[in-house]
Amino acid sequence: MNITNLETILEKEPKFRIEQAKEAIYKQLITDWSAALNLPLELRKKLDNECPLGIKAQVLESNDKKSVKAAITLADGLKIETVLLRHGDRNTVCVSSQVGCPLGCFFCATGQSGYKRNLGVTEILEQVLFFNRYLKIQNEKVDNLVFMGMGEPFLNYNNVMNAIKLLNSAETFNIGARHISISTIGIISGIQKLANEKLQLNLAISLHAPNDDLREEIIPANRTYGLNNLLDAVGDYLKKTKRQIMFEYIMFERFNDSKEQAMELVALLKNLPKHLYIINLIQYNPTKGFLPSSPLAIKTFQKILTRNGIKTTIRLRLGREVKGACGQLAGDLEK
Ligand code: SAH
Ligand code: SF4
Repeated sequence: MNITNLETILEKEPKFRIEQAKEAIYKQLITDWSAALNLPLELRKKLDNECPLGIKAQVLESNDKKSVKAAITLADGLKIETVLLRHGDRNTVCVSSQVGCPLGCFFCATGQSGYKRNLGVTEILEQVLFFNRYLKIQNEKVDNLVFMGMGEPFLNYNNVMNAIKLLNSAETFNIGARHISISTIGIISGIQKLANEKLQLNLAISLHAPNDDLREEIIPANRTYGLNNLLDAVGDYLKKTKRQIMFEYIMFERFNDSKEQAMELVALLKNLPKHLYIINLIQYNPTKGFLPSSPLAIKTFQKILTRNGIKTTIRLRLGREVKGACGQLAGDLEK
């Protein structure tokens, strides 16, 4: 698919043509311009050549069909992965923002796979479009987005935000801002910019360690975005938006999961208002190096946080079967 020049092609056409074309793409979910019967034949042919709508993707479904991974081939041949998670009454898409990621976190398959480039606005949109087409047969649609796929969304701030504005608009899928979350490793400028956006998006921060030394071992970017500055930026964000954020904390066995480290985490966050954050304890999906913490260690860690008045949730292995769990997006389908 490549619709970046759609507006240019329709420039000389009557104004309503662009609306008809967008309606066909985003509402009727056509996969081929020949299905856009309200457009003249000549125009359909031209669009077919210059704005192909087909999305080339390999799809992998879990046995219960609740997790679906799509490896999408982009117009330049590069591949990205995107995952549909159908849990509860929600259809959540885990969206990628870059091809690979330049930050190279030790535990993250994307980070270890190298970095190619940022995704464009329509390449971000395309991932949601793909799953809306997929769900159409069952009369369902995507209603929740998390920017937790490949890449660091705040290193591609403008494209991510423009894509979100479109996804949020009636022109495309009308996905409510409250149903869109952005996860960042802690790019401070991005957190500051997000605080000034009009949209009420959700912010998640990948914390993963209770002190700088430990964090630096697994997140090289911590040297640039250390905990002091990061938590200051978070504090300002909370003051400004009064919107609850989530800290993500991956649990690695005997690395960051001890009782002492739980207390260290409590102390680290002591200046932030407790009603404005929640800690999501995530069991590590093994890629290399570490082992995941045991359920008991996670529970014990959680109890300490709870006892200290901190809200928590536990995320266990969603999407594992398709290797679609966060951090496992690395073009595994081909192997
Ligand atoms: N770059 C952003 C968003 C993409 S990663 C970020 O780092 O926040 C989305 C989430 O998946 C992050 O919290 C990331 O730390 C987590 N993740 C990466 N690898 C993982 C793994 N192997 N197991 C569990 N979570 C992982
Ligand atoms: Fe990039 Fe996030 Fe993976 Fe780190 S965890 S390498 S920031 S995608």
